[in-house]
Amino acid sequence: MGEISQNLAGIRERIRGASESCKRDPAGIRLIAVSKTVSFGMVKEAHAAGQRAFGENYVQELVKKADILANLDIDWHFIGHLQRNKVKYVIPIVKSIHSLDSIRLAEEIEKRAPQPLNCLIEVNLAGEGTKTGIDPAGLPGLIQAVKGMSKINLTGLMTIPPYDADPENSRPYFIKLRELMNKINDEKLYARPLAELSMGMTFDLEIAIEEGSTFVRVGTGIFGARG
Ligand SMILES: *Cc1c(COP(=O)(O)O)cnc(C)c1O
Repeated sequence: MGEISQNLAGIRERIRGASESCKRDPAGIRLIAVSKTVSFGMVKEAHAAGQRAFGENYVQELVKKADILANLDIDWHFIGHLQRNKVKYVIPIVKSIHSLDSIRLAEEIEKRAPQPLNCLIEVNLAGEGTKTGIDPAGLPGLIQAVKGMSKINLTGLMTIPPYDADPENSRPYFIKLRELMNKINDEKLYARPLAELSMGMTFDLEIAIEEGSTFVRVGTGIFGARG
């Protein structure tokens, strides 16, 4: 086994172990391999080891990888900050966008998408520290706007907690994201109940799974440290 397939097996085992310890069905947790800055060859290796969902942060890199790897059955997820003028390049490629964070971005997706596109709203729960994601106070307004858009299929929420060496410190953010989704569903703010929580990375995926994650986004745990 190559290193990437070994790493992947290890991450799958961590997902299985975490879901078992909190009595969740591991099938309810999808692994997104975050391939930003990673070579085409390494993506191919992960694909050969059975991985199908990949996450990219940068539009130019996504477009290039999707083109070069077009013969592979890959589901691309866009997980980075998305500028409105780049939406048109992303839409034909991706299965979902995890980083919807403004009404203006939603309007651009609505204008450009030929068919409904799965989107998750990125929520900035840390306040000043990070620059991406919508403030929780802005969530109801964004959801209200998206509700009237036929090309956006809102499926859930995403967050990136501030980095902290102790994964336990991610837990309050994961709990908060789940509570926000439950509140949105209880108050029927959207046309359909939201079901996806995109949370958890290499170092804190177990905590995220315990708190209800349905998408974990793992980069270094699969591909090694980024250069
Ligand atoms: C880079 C990145 C990840 C993966 O982080 P790792 O610590 O390498 O697992 C997950 N989500 C987002 C949004 C990222 O930018």
